[in-house]
Amino acid sequence: MGRMEHNLSVKTDYISAFGNQHDGVIEIVGIVPGGVIEVGYFYGDAKPKNIVDISTQVGCPMSCSFCELGSERFVRNLTAQEIADQVTLMLDIAQKHGIDTARVPHKVTIAKTGEPLLNPHVREGLERIATLSQSFKISTVYPHNCHERLKEIADFASHYQRTVQLQISLISTSEEYRRKTAGKGVAGFEEIRAGAHYWREKNPTGRKINLSLILTEDVPCDVRSVRHIFPPELFRFRFRNYVPTTNGTSAGLHTLPQQKFEQILEEFRTVGYDVNEAATPTPTELKFGLAANVTRRRYLEMTGQTVRDV
Ligand code: SF4
Repeated sequence: MGRMEHNLSVKTDYISAFGNQHDGVIEIVGIVPGGVIEVGYFYGDAKPKNIVDISTQVGCPMSCSFCELGSERFVRNLTAQEIADQVTLMLDIAQKHGIDTARVPHKVTIAKTGEPLLNPHVREGLERIATLSQSFKISTVYPHNCHERLKEIADFASHYQRTVQLQISLISTSEEYRRKTAGKGVAGFEEIRAGAHYWREKNPTGRKINLSLILTEDVPCDVRSVRHIFPPELFRFRFRNYVPTTNGTSAGLHTLPQQKFEQILEEFRTVGYDVNEAATPTPTELKFGLAANVTRRRYLEMTGQTVRDV
């Protein structure tokens, strides 16, 4: 471990590298006071930018039923420094794995452990990372009543010289299914639309807001129930076929056959949506079952810690 890593507020004792330079993933478990978090690095031919994927909380209050955190309790919000240090640590590790990190463009995605719109330090964390000139993607399930936090991030995005993409995990096109699947209160569709309008007002030339759906056999997905609420001028859809995970499989989730998956994408295209398939798991992600927080769960199992212990 390099000299710099000793000074960071996030440490690691577990680094795993998968695939090769054409389709590679590096996953680490970050150790912070109170528990462990996951940080990822994704790269390869299919990606225009290398991606550093970071966490915002130890545990998560939302308890979504499809998440690898399962029923693990929420411990605390990461500080702005801990949010920023994950990027520094991961870039250093990627460099040691032969990636010339100073030369390739990066995107920092916030989509690992925790819900970013529940952490009051996220805006400051983004500002600290911004000194490295990355583009960003903030991925949220959009909890109920988090408009103030969304505003802070929208304001940050309006001043930042690079892209800040907002991605909302819609879970389903059925509001009822969405509410049932997230353990704690999530925003309804009208609340999401109001937040999106604010975002657009602040970022009139920015990208459309991504609404993401992870499709399984059982997730209700019908374009007719959302077309009137989420206008295609403001939103685009991003689909991912389900990567089987331990928690998801025990909750009875099943991957959708490819033909059905593509048929759903076509239905969304037909009514005017931009449909983004870049979210499709790569062969390396599929082969090793690398959905968010899977590496973290494996780490806890390998080190003999149960979810209750952490
Ligand atoms: S999916 Fe995201 S918001 Fe839901 S429990 Fe997992 S980390 Fe939290």
